[in-house]
Amino acid sequence: MAVLVCGGAGYIGSHVVRTLVEAGEEVLVADNLVTGHIEAVHPRAKLYRGDLRDAGFMETLFSENKIDGVIDFAAFSLVGESVLDPLKYFENNFYGTLCLLKHMRDHKVHKIVFSSTAATYGEPENIPILENDRTLPTNPYGESKLSVEKMLKWCEIAHGIKYTVLRYFNVAGAHPSGEIGEDHNPETHLIPIILQTALGKRSKISIYGNDYSTPDGTCIRDYIHVMDLADAHILALRQLYAGQAGGIFNLGNGEGFSVKDVIQVARDVTGHPIPTEICPRRAGDPAKLVSSAEKAIRTLHWSPRFPQLEKIIVSAWNWHRNHPFGYEK
Ligand code: UDP
Repeated sequence: MAVLVCGGAGYIGSHVVRTLVEAGEEVLVADNLVTGHIEAVHPRAKLYRGDLRDAGFMETLFSENKIDGVIDFAAFSLVGESVLDPLKYFENNFYGTLCLLKHMRDHKVHKIVFSSTAATYGEPENIPILENDRTLPTNPYGESKLSVEKMLKWCEIAHGIKYTVLRYFNVAGAHPSGEIGEDHNPETHLIPIILQTALGKRSKISIYGNDYSTPDGTCIRDYIHVMDLADAHILALRQLYAGQAGGIFNLGNGEGFSVKDVIQVARDVTGHPIPTEICPRRAGDPAKLVSSAEKAIRTLHWSPRFPQLEKIIVSAWNWHRNHPFGYEK
């Protein structure tokens, strides 16, 4: 019986694939390689190159294999882009997962771990954020993920598809082997951009807004190591396999760092001055997102191994320094 990882060639997906393979699981990867990298797919995972919205492709995948559970990462994930092009996000993120669920229903695959986001909350009412707090996304990316969460609820009722939703806060870092890491084109995420500046690939980092109602005026986020995230997926899948209830879980470290804090830690780690410039706010950005992951710690027995921001940045730096052009040779 195999685990199907949709979007397994992407940043987070490839780390989860590797963790699953190392745990002895048979792993299938479905990825259209639009944002994923073939080099990121573990050689012991079987890659199916195609799109979740392609019915013929999906039928082949589901009929050639005995699939026990699915982990779904296949999505676009850029907040700013989603504001400019919302339909791109609903088409890929919502409709793509809808197609996946149809095949799961038809082939009686009844377990899914879904990759969701803190962007489902929008501007939070309370800090730290709890899973049952209000969800009111401030951007289409978050809305597309929240829409899938709602669809999953109804598919469980109608088709018995058990699901666990993992709402990630800000993911960073790389695999300790140094073989896989973060490589987006274009890169828009804070930590990789800071590190590209330290590498001299950019002359400075733009700080998007210093007039938020936070102590230093810059946005606050909760950073989590990609390996800790990978561990949580395995725990979530195992609980579904064991017949336990799924649910919705935040994954973060419960500590907020401003954009300026992150830049300072990166200066300490890299020894580079990392010049900055203040720019206008980026559309769709909430001022502060900090998780409570108590539920995941209690219920999934999740225990982050790299909760310190410094360790997360050291790990990301190790990848970027050794792969200044990402997966490109
Ligand atoms: N950010 C920034 N400059 C950049 C990229 C990001 O100031 O070049 C800020 C962004 O506005 C947000 C935080 O850094 O407040 C984290 O952004 P990222 O895109 O990494 O993750 P997001 O929170 O959007 O998922």
